[in-house]
Amino acid sequence: MLSQPEYLVVGAGLTGATIARLLHDAGRNVLVLERRARIAGNVHDSVHACGIRVHEHGPHYFRTSSPRIWSFVNRFAEFHPFEARIKSDVDGEYVSWPLGRSYIERHIGPYAPPPRGHTPANFEEAALALMPAPVYDKFVKPYNEKQWGVPAKTLSADLCRRFDVREDDDDRLTPKALHQGVPRQGYTAMVQAMLEGIPVLLNTHFTAASSWPRPRRLTFFTGPIDEYFGYCDGRLAYRAQRRVHDYLPDVRLQQPCVQVNNPLHEQGAHIRTIEWKHLMPADLAARLTGTVLTMETPFTPDDPREYEYPFPNAANQALYRRYRERAAAVTGVLFCGRLGEYRYYDMDQAIGRAQSIATRVLAGDEDPAR
Ligand SMILES: Cc1cc2nc3c(=O)[nH]c(=O)nc-3n(C[C@H](O)[C@H](O)[C@H](O)COP(=O)(O)OP(=O)(O)OC[C@H]3O[C@@H](n4cnc5c(N)ncnc54)[C@H](O)[C@@H]3O)c2cc1C
Repeated sequence: MLSQPEYLVVGAGLTGATIARLLHDAGRNVLVLERRARIAGNVHDSVHACGIRVHEHGPHYFRTSSPRIWSFVNRFAEFHPFEARIKSDVDGEYVSWPLGRSYIERHIGPYAPPPRGHTPANFEEAALALMPAPVYDKFVKPYNEKQWGVPAKTLSADLCRRFDVREDDDDRLTPKALHQGVPRQGYTAMVQAMLEGIPVLLNTHFTAASSWPRPRRLTFFTGPIDEYFGYCDGRLAYRAQRRVHDYLPDVRLQQPCVQVNNPLHEQGAHIRTIEWKHLMPADLAARLTGTVLTMETPFTPDDPREYEYPFPNAANQALYRRYRERAAAVTGVLFCGRLGEYRYYDMDQAIGRAQSIATRVLAGDEDPAR
């Protein structure tokens, strides 16, 4: 029989595991509940029968420039250095993504960096302010229309925050991040190590109506905020990817890098093809036979366990604000993480946010999620 905890953490993903670890390290009594039969949430991975590690929810590249976050994750996993490179399959050519200046000059004409100052009204306007129209039409518009299932004009301009044109042709996805890598033994093992010594109840779905004994101090809820409130104001929209895996026993490597984007409608409904062997340490990959490819096709999930990307438009942001107001009126529950805050967080951002929340809670801050 478990004693009444001081803190209840709902969800054993990176957010929940980080909060639970930091509270446990500070000598607090913590209980973690997880609705699934396994830990690690969206970063869960497993090893294919051929020995190649596959990330269940798409490829996860870890990068951070924060010494605090980097030293935290290195407590729980040995990282092998990995800097992601992505190609787009366009016109029979593997083109580096983000695009380099030389590609634009070769295929379109002289490249001029966009003027600053204009506030775009939507995704299409924001993208066209960053890149020439032929680039937008080929690489960005169809990719995003497949990804989100709606016309690009209806998406939020904020979605363009992650785009840039590489003036120096640097083909690394995140060249500015100081630390980049992938855990040698995978993310699930890393989260397992984060949760060591902390009781975790799997297959345990917490709802607002659950008869769980209230923790003495606080509940951290990292599940979907709209689900917590029984969808009383309507459902927040998400997109996810359906993944079809293919093992090719006689192929050493099929594509030039871990991720190849398939942006064009005529290539099919899928938007990218992942080859997992590229993500593995070279010494481990060299010993394996064959390769595993995964095609990712976007869809709109109903099941909260499949939620991946929050939908980037104004209607969903407005709906989220209504849930946030409800959340503010609930005492003893703090909503956090990518599902609790309906927000895309990279792994390092999710961990950094969880560190900051746990630190404030331990310091007795009355508003730790601010
Ligand atoms: C397709 C995709 C690719 C990504 N690639 C990268 C990348 O390359 N690099 C990067 O830095 N980041 C990447 N990310 C982001 C990364 O996945 C997130 O930062 C991270 O998963 C956030 O962790 P979390 O704990 O907040 O959420 P989650 O991992 O979703 O954890 C929430 C947990 O709570 C559980 N739960 C939910 N509701 C309940 C309930 N009612 N009761 C009990 N348990 C519940 C869930 O089962 C889950 O285990 C990617 C995200 C996506 C969608």
